Amino acid sequence: MEMEPVIGLEIHAQLNTRTKLFCACPTEFGAPPNTNICEVCTGQPGALPRMNGRALELAAKAGLALGSRVNERSLFSRKNYFYPDLPNGFQTSQLDPPICEGGGLEIAADDGSPKLVRLNRIHMEDDAGKCIHDEARGISLIDLNRAGTPLIEIVTEPDISSAREAVEFLKKLHGLLVRLGVTRGRLEEGEFRCDVNISLKPRGASELGVRGEIKNLNSFRFVGQAIDYEISRQGAVYSSGGKVLQETLHFDSVRGETRSLRSKEEAHDYRYFPQPDLPPAEVSPDLLARLRQELPENPEDALARLLGSGLKEEQARLILERRGALDYFDACVVAGAAAPRAASLMLELFLPFCQKEGVSPLESAFGPDLMARLAGLADSGTLGRRKVQELSERMFREGADPEKLTRDLGLSQISDEGELMGMARRAVAESPAEAAKYRAGQDKILSFFVGRLMKLSGGRAEPRKAGELLRAVLAEIPDGGPGGGADGGEGARP
Ligand code: ADP
Ligand code: MG
Ligand code: ZN
Repeated sequence: MEMEPVIGLEIHAQLNTRTKLFCACPTEFGAPPNTNICEVCTGQPGALPRMNGRALELAAKAGLALGSRVNERSLFSRKNYFYPDLPNGFQTSQLDPPICEGGGLEIAADDGSPKLVRLNRIHMEDDAGKCIHDEARGISLIDLNRAGTPLIEIVTEPDISSAREAVEFLKKLHGLLVRLGVTRGRLEEGEFRCDVNISLKPRGASELGVRGEIKNLNSFRFVGQAIDYEISRQGAVYSSGGKVLQETLHFDSVRGETRSLRSKEEAHDYRYFPQPDLPPAEVSPDLLARLRQELPENPEDALARLLGSGLKEEQARLILERRGALDYFDACVVAGAAAPRAASLMLELFLPFCQKEGVSPLESAFGPDLMARLAGLADSGTLGRRKVQELSERMFREGADPEKLTRDLGLSQISDEGELMGMARRAVAESPAEAAKYRAGQDKILSFFVGRLMKLSGGRAEPRKAGELLRAVLAEIPDGGPGGGADGGEGARP
């Protein structure tokens, strides 16, 4: 029987706040253990939580951008379980109603058609601390710096059908949330991590199969590997006549395998109940309206706008893909650059520099103003392609002024006809044998002369005009001596 995979994701994204969800402790990563803690986030008796307003705004913003309904009032509940890194003995989470319901994100399905991956809900919750198992000393240590860090959990409907679709969805979601400023999204610091629920069912069947839940994946690649492994593992269980068990799995990235952590029988009963220490979280209509205004343009609108300003589709997509690139591009255009030129300079020169040096576009010393002026020098023909490249390297490193550099370095392109004519005559006079070949019909020799002229000009001659003038000079009847050009054919070669 042919089986098809069914996948639903639960994504935890750490909200981009300076302080924790219910206290004023910093959320910074990497501080010495147990230094960013207080009575609230260590669960001391009598300590009362206070809601972080910015966390609430960021959660609502995520919902707006994903087309969810944002509830004006949502409630916090205690999700009870016992684990050493959970000082309260419960996680503060949202059960019913959560801050956001519904919504979705469109991806390309495996057959290329557009596919909406629907969201079930987005809720807010706090993170747990960390257990550090010191095997050498045979002890476990607890660091509560992370306890109380604000998270949103985004739960999808089981609409995903393959590892590729899951990874595309996650990358798109990650990009969107980072662009919105909802999360910093640093995967290696656990700021964006995902549980994968996966089952198989006979192709076309409406009833879902029994699922495995792979916990806590923090790399797109591992998500892909874990899903592919689990599809073939479950497939093998079914084809040998066995039963897939509902269990919680861990992905061992070294061996590329999933392993069972616990089965359904051992599953938690969280005994959710309303958290009596917190009032409902409120998102007023005014706040919602303000957040809606702050939303960046959605990617479809941005694409249409870029195409409308004369960019090729490939260019537009690349600019939309790179973090910060669209803002930079827009700023270049505001500063007076022609859109297509700004795009090509960004894609060919600027963004590769940024990537290599690990700076984000808007942080670079090579600001949009300078880029607009460089684009102007390229558009006016003052600078040829090679010189633009040379200059942009200096501008990237030093943030230097392009007009000034052009003057200081004597880079500007020579398109003055008189000046070029002198060089053309000299190039021809210096190579009489090649000139004779050209005149005898070997057209290809022209590029030899263009090369000579470029050398005479220090690479600054405008190539098209140089070719035209050389043709004209070569068409003249030779009179035995160098033509009467400006240089008289005497100076030493550069
Ligand atoms: P829980 O919170 O117990 O993990 P939920 O019902 O909230 O369970 O579902 C969690 C995730 O699992 C959701 O993304 C949902 O789409 C997905 N899911 C539920 N049932 C299945 C199934 N049979 N196969 C694959 N994914 C599933
Ligand atoms: Mg789950
Ligand atoms: Zn605290």
